[in-house]
Amino acid sequence: MKDQERGDQPVVEPIPHDTPGSECEHALQHLYEYLDSEMMPEDEQRMRAHVAHCSPCLAELSVEDLVKQLVKRSCAERAPETLRLRIHEQIRIETR
Ligand SMILES: [Zn+2]
Repeated sequence: MKDQERGDQPVVEPIPHDTPGSECEHALQHLYEYLDSEMMPEDEQRMRAHVAHCSPCLAELSVEDLVKQLVKRSCAERAPETLRLRIHEQIRIETR
């Protein structure tokens, strides 16, 4: 048995993620502020740190960012709901 030798390996310190639910909530809550660059710096940092390792939130962010760009390009008031759903569906398939 050479199990003791594993103790020499450096411990990888994970990013605190003990309350994933509330972090996701935080990220989604500030989604539009983030997209409009109206976030408080500390909130933005917290959100960036979270989406870096939370793919559902990152996907959510990407969708909204994409929709926003499309809306801007087409000069429409709002993206049609069908478009939003279609992009959501696409990303869900890709991240699976
Ligand atoms: Zn999340």
